[in-house]
Amino acid sequence: MIYMAQKQHRIYNPAMECIDREQLKKLQGERLAATVKLEYENVAVYRERMDAAGVKPEDIRTVDDLKYLPFMEKTDLRDYYPYGLMASPKSAIVRIHGSSGTTGKPIVSGDTRGDLDVWSEMMARTLTAAGCTSEDIVQVAYGFGLFTGGFGAYQGADRIGAMVLPMSSGNTQRQIMMMKDMGTSILCCTPSYATYLGETVREMGIDPKRHLKLKAGCFGAEPWTEEMRQHIEELLGIDACDIYGLTEIAGPGVAFECLEKHGMHINEDHVIPEIINPATGEQLPYGTPGELVFTTITKTGMPMLRYRTHDICTLTDEKCACGRTLVRMGRITGRTDDMLVIRGVNVFPSQIESVLVSAEGVAPHYMLIVDRVNNSDTLEVQVEMTEGMFSDTISHIENVRKYITDQIKSVVGIASKVKLVAPKSIPRSEGKAKRVIDNRKL
Ligand code: ADP
Ligand code: ZN
Repeated sequence: MIYMAQKQHRIYNPAMECIDREQLKKLQGERLAATVKLEYENVAVYRERMDAAGVKPEDIRTVDDLKYLPFMEKTDLRDYYPYGLMASPKSAIVRIHGSSGTTGKPIVSGDTRGDLDVWSEMMARTLTAAGCTSEDIVQVAYGFGLFTGGFGAYQGADRIGAMVLPMSSGNTQRQIMMMKDMGTSILCCTPSYATYLGETVREMGIDPKRHLKLKAGCFGAEPWTEEMRQHIEELLGIDACDIYGLTEIAGPGVAFECLEKHGMHINEDHVIPEIINPATGEQLPYGTPGELVFTTITKTGMPMLRYRTHDICTLTDEKCACGRTLVRMGRITGRTDDMLVIRGVNVFPSQIESVLVSAEGVAPHYMLIVDRVNNSDTLEVQVEMTEGMFSDTISHIENVRKYITDQIKSVVGIASKVKLVAPKSIPRSEGKAKRVIDNRKL
């Protein structure tokens, strides 16, 4: 089911993606009520919490009643690991996924056949929005495993009927060989790996426009910036679309960018987003930045009610030129839990990244090292020079270093020690980039 709203905009499921908002609200209310009932009847800990808050399933009839429900937290997934939050019997669960980035026990979620179906639909919408059709060849360079990236992209491409190359992450030379030989047209991986692939393609003397058939990429699973988007688009000669998701809610495809590339449409017929003040829990209006909270309304394996993501962003219901009526979320500007507090100042790594990518002579590969010396916090920013810069004069290098230091001071508001390091000296990541080392916690 593919429909062209405008020349370049493809929509997988226009009945839902372009739904009238009043009708959507009604549908969400019905689905929410059913999910709350399912949760109350099957998940003891949530029932206890609702009872303690004096809320009965019958009290939740519309989206406006959402605010009466208690929140769920990442710690709940740890505390009730592995099956404590499942609302369906084990025999109905057909897949387990787990989060990638955390230490110790993973955070797991369980999907029923129906949940996998919903997730595949969300990813089919995502890929279609980036221009993918059954004619395309989709290279999945997200990891396959407990991590949701690989399977999510695979399922969406399979649903569309595209040809899939389930490469998983890593083995860059092989990725590029297959990309070239098979004629890959859509690439799915993390933005940091897309940058690395792009740089390697260039180093190998491959001209994407002449030797490759790539046209677009769906990149997500970690924060990135507008500048990084431009960098990837230039390196690979493609449209780079942002895609968002998390294991607890479904995996990738919870929200996706259309080719307008100004925010990610949220699949609101399956999840209800809210923005809250992270300190008070109070709901905030569209346009105000705050913590993103999701409620799943079609999942039955492990539904999540008012799940706090710790991701900070803004929602907008402004009309999008693609024709979709689904609200959009802006880029994640940080996480309430990856926010660094350095000498009392809130610092998001993305702020520093935006300074680095706008400076000349440095590559977007960096590491932030936070420490405490004589009871005072220190921030060291290591960033790689480009090859050209590396062989430039010492005084020019020093000017660039000073420029970056001044920019960080003015954008972030704190003094830092900037070190320009040799090209390729910062470890590359095949999955999510690790960009902060906080030695204060040790
Ligand atoms: P973990 O947080 O343990 O790595 P996941 O692999 O499920 O678990 O990752 C989900 C998180 O990844 C999100 O909550 C968000 O912080 C981040 N993320 C996913 N997609 C994006 C994106 N497009 N932009 C920014 N951050 C993202
Ligand atoms: Zn759009």
